[in-house]
Amino acid sequence: MTEMLKLPAARVRRVYERLHEAHGPQHWWPGETPFEIMVGAILTQNTAWTNVERAIANLKRARALSPRAIVAAEPERLGEWLRPSGYFNIKARRLRNFCTWYLEQGGLSRLKWLDTQALRHAVLSVNGVGPETADDILLYAFERPVFVIDAYTRRLFSRLGMISGEEGYETLRHAFEHALGPDVALFNEYHALIVVHAKDICRKKPSCGDCVLKRGCASAGS
Ligand code: SF4
Repeated sequence: MTEMLKLPAARVRRVYERLHEAHGPQHWWPGETPFEIMVGAILTQNTAWTNVERAIANLKRARALSPRAIVAAEPERLGEWLRPSGYFNIKARRLRNFCTWYLEQGGLSRLKWLDTQALRHAVLSVNGVGPETADDILLYAFERPVFVIDAYTRRLFSRLGMISGEEGYETLRHAFEHALGPDVALFNEYHALIVVHAKDICRKKPSCGDCVLKRGCASAGS
């Protein structure tokens, strides 16, 4: 059973407003089609986004950015296209698994009719797709109100003193979703802003002097 965590709704929203004021709208997720967003979500694990862009550019150049082309590709060729994204053999296997499943399910035109819980359950059933990747896909490709939890979310909110950072994925996801209410546009921007803030300001070694959240932050200046 998922443990319960209650986040202070007003503070969660205030953090969002400050981040939005500081960084502006992020317009995530980069990708021309829902399928490209799904591919990006699978390839972005453990690598910088610029590397994902290079791998996706390879797929486009080879006219292979489609589930059928990916499933039909020779494993070695697929690995070569994905090489810039790192761990390319593992990612090639994951992407092929995902595309096989996607075609079996009837693609976007069928999957879009599933309710959010059923869709999440189905995406999570794909070998190699964990909760963060599944929720990136649900939020950014299917526009469903699921809050993505990642290492940046844990770092930022534990430093703010709002979570311990050790909670389970589902505990944190439920807590943010409950505090904010279902809102795809808000979840889209909020996750993007957390990533930007954690990369630019609340880094491993934080720049607290430049941080719009320093007032009220449990770790400011430390
Ligand atoms: S004040 Fe420092 S520790 Fe707190 S959120 Fe900002 S950068 Fe992170």
